[in-house]
Amino acid sequence: MKRREILSGLAAATALTACGNNQNNTTTQPSTEQFNWRMVTTWLPNFPGLGTGVNTLVRYIRELSQGRLNISVYGAGELVPAFEVFDTVAQGAVEMGHGAAYYWRGKTEATQFFATIPFGMTAHEMNAWMYYGDGLDLWHELYSEFNLIGFPAGNTGVQMGGWFNKEINSIDDLRGLKMRIPGIGGEVLRRAGGTPINLPQSEIYTALQTGSIDATEWVGPYNDLAAGLHDAAQYYYYPGWHEPGTTLECMINLDAWLSLPPDLRSIVMIACQAANLDMMSEFNARNANALSTLMNQEGIDVRPFPQEVMARLKSITNEVINELATEDERVEKVWNSYRAFQSEARSWQEVSEQAYMESTEE
Ligand code: CA
Repeated sequence: MKRREILSGLAAATALTACGNNQNNTTTQPSTEQFNWRMVTTWLPNFPGLGTGVNTLVRYIRELSQGRLNISVYGAGELVPAFEVFDTVAQGAVEMGHGAAYYWRGKTEATQFFATIPFGMTAHEMNAWMYYGDGLDLWHELYSEFNLIGFPAGNTGVQMGGWFNKEINSIDDLRGLKMRIPGIGGEVLRRAGGTPINLPQSEIYTALQTGSIDATEWVGPYNDLAAGLHDAAQYYYYPGWHEPGTTLECMINLDAWLSLPPDLRSIVMIACQAANLDMMSEFNARNANALSTLMNQEGIDVRPFPQEVMARLKSITNEVINELATEDERVEKVWNSYRAFQSEARSWQEVSEQAYMESTEE
């Protein structure tokens, strides 16, 4: 029932958008009802890239709706702790949330595919799966079980592999390593002999500096430089095999979503798409600049993981995900779509973006 309501809501919103281009449009005037909503997020208030991206999203919605949909943003801990965002929005205590779907793997491991998985799709490929593959439909189907609807609303791009105080020359160098790394990536590290630690953003720097962890991943040069991680470790490894294109989400309580008139639903969807592009663009610009600072001013040793290490981590990742798929049919359904799309998308990438980059190397 809920599923059909979502789809009819989307169809109505799309139809209304199409009518907007039609001079003979005979639809009724838009509703003037005003909605004052609240949004809770998993990010610290105004956190660069992520928190500021949320501010951009709600500004787009306010401006496009001419003030008919106003959203007050609450960062992590301001109204509820970061990891309570999902339940708070699902229960309708607030109407909207912003986070990353992999934080909700405790509900079902299937949520992670809508954020990122190790050796998964890049931002380009994720957007293709979401908007022109089955990704968004599968996401809506999964979240409707929790009385939610989710949309892509930001992307970090490929993250960095992380900060280490020793060289990683072989898979054996991961043995005994205590590393802050969440999610499936953490499980992969554990099977490679390391110890994954899950720490909130606020505790990472001190843990690395005092040696209570040996290594950490965070995001990429822009956020990592701001967090001062280069003062606590010497080696900065790439690429972020565990987070190759992390999609951030805007989640909405389904009852609240269905209470919006179709034009406001359309505005929310379009604003999410705009925010998705905006955040990716900001990360690309600022990561490039911060990487240059780290290499040329801070003297950080930026180096790739050896191919042997990447290959082993990839094979462990496949083991872990295939196990998850046998334990939860929702994982199996999403993984089948994801895997097939990624395989086809990769063949295209190899002769387009990747071939272009490789053939124009200096
Ligand atoms: Ca990360």
